[in-house]
Amino acid sequence: MDRETLLARGQVPALERATIQPYVDAKPGPTFYQRAAHPVGLEAERLLGELEGGHAVLFASGTGAVTSLLLAVLAPGATVAIADGGYYGTVGLVRDELCRWGLELVTFDQTGPPPPADLVWFEPCSNPMMTFPDLGASIAKAHADGALVVVDNTVLSPLLLRPLEHGADFVLHSGTKILAGHHDALIGVVTCARPESAARLVAFRTTTGIVAAPDPTWLLLRGLKTLALRVERQSASALELAQRLVEHPRVEPVRYPGLGDPVAARYVSAFGPLLSFDVADPERMERALGLIENATSLGGVASTLEARARWEGDRVPPGLLRLSVGLEDVDDLWADLAQALDA
Ligand code: PLP
Repeated sequence: MDRETLLARGQVPALERATIQPYVDAKPGPTFYQRAAHPVGLEAERLLGELEGGHAVLFASGTGAVTSLLLAVLAPGATVAIADGGYYGTVGLVRDELCRWGLELVTFDQTGPPPPADLVWFEPCSNPMMTFPDLGASIAKAHADGALVVVDNTVLSPLLLRPLEHGADFVLHSGTKILAGHHDALIGVVTCARPESAARLVAFRTTTGIVAAPDPTWLLLRGLKTLALRVERQSASALELAQRLVEHPRVEPVRYPGLGDPVAARYVSAFGPLLSFDVADPERMERALGLIENATSLGGVASTLEARARWEGDRVPPGLLRLSVGLEDVDDLWADLAQALDA
């Protein structure tokens, strides 16, 4: 079978992942050693770059991508401003580890203008507080202050939002989530507006070894084939469930930008799989669920729900539950939520 047929079937990466790459005319090619590049990685970076409209670089995880981006582009003493209410691991990484290497952390409310900093970090549909920045105005303000701008686009995916078009310098994804989409791969990606930034990140990745291995990369490539269908279905079901939760007497508040956030509506036409809501006894609710998994990941084919205070402590309201809506029938999902709420 020729390479084109195998590629159409998604099989070339599986074949090439273990292949030794011989030198050509005694010179190393781009995939001469897996830490520098491998064929399945180059193919995934090409597709992801096309989706985001920039130059994509894969890393071992979303967190590996955050670490690499901050260490590769900033100098010791730089100030990083990170949006409140977003992924707690990003703040924790800077506060607990990278501060020892001289980075200063400030946090800010991304529904207003960002503070002066060397790098500003936004997270539209922040996980789990679900806030949405006015990206155009806020990125312009950050640039006017001389900052680099990163948008963590994990929750929405490039099918709903393309932050480089709004002026961001970098877009970050935990590809572990909706891009790979099946709760079985750990991978991260940074897409750069400028090719020289991508070259810098590739050099940093090769030197530090924070590399996405071929196998999770292949799972990401396979996930991309169904991304459009998943994003559409998961967004529609999440909106439906958010609307039903609003009506439930034991739930208050429900956080989902699709419930009428006017800023979010200017930037996206669908709002992704993630929402959060508060109940009096979140752990009882976790135990009462049947269909929905009580688990920590998000964005995949299976719906997951979790009391976030378990990890984030008083950073979030004590009753906050984060729900990531998967591909199950929306009425089945509602039946499970309703019986757990009413139990
Ligand atoms: N960014 C967001 C918004 C996340 O939710 C996560 C993980 O939950 C990460 C980054 C980190 O990704 P990973 O778990 O792939 O390291």
